[in-house]
Amino acid sequence: DPRIQGIKTKIRVVPDFPKKGIMFQDITTLLLDPKAFKDTIDLFVERYRDMNISVVAGIEARGFMFGPPIALAIGAKFVPLRKPKKLPGEIIFEEYELEYGSDRLEMQVGAVDSGDRALVVDDLIATGGTLCAAMNLLERAGAKVVECACVIELPELKGRERLEGKSLCVLVEYR
Ligand code: 5GP
Repeated sequence: DPRIQGIKTKIRVVPDFPKKGIMFQDITTLLLDPKAFKDTIDLFVERYRDMNISVVAGIEARGFMFGPPIALAIGAKFVPLRKPKKLPGEIIFEEYELEYGSDRLEMQVGAVDSGDRALVVDDLIATGGTLCAAMNLLERAGAKVVECACVIELPELKGRERLEGKSLCVLVEYR
């Protein structure tokens, strides 16, 4: 699709952020370009509009930038998967490993019903740990995860293999 190249050129690569040796993929420059941002959303909407998705789950924080416009366009509810201690009421959580230490994602009980058909949205897949935690939350609530959608994949980190056969759709690969 010719729109992909335009999206790719709007993602800024920042060396040594947030620490030395990391080539950070900065999507804020994509958000600054209304055409490229809209193309990003449109490509996902074209893919998911007829897949009977009932819930779009966005991962804090950059999944909150891409998830809601997709949810609105396909007529699905939006559910935020958040970092610890942000969500009121009863929650379930999944812990996942980081390079140093661990983190967790939380989801409110009652936001997702058994029988929901879920799309998980984030900006980027690296090792896949974050998407795995997100999928576990949704499945524990009884949803079926139809697919994960990310703007960017870092294929060298082999996150796709960690998804255990779950399908993943990405727009741009960065090697
Ligand atoms: P993973 O769990 O797949 O190793 O890491 C993915 C998570 O880390 C995503 O939530 C993503 O937002 C964040 N992340 C890791 N590296 C980058 C990066 O280079 N750019 C951006 N925008 N996010 C990153």
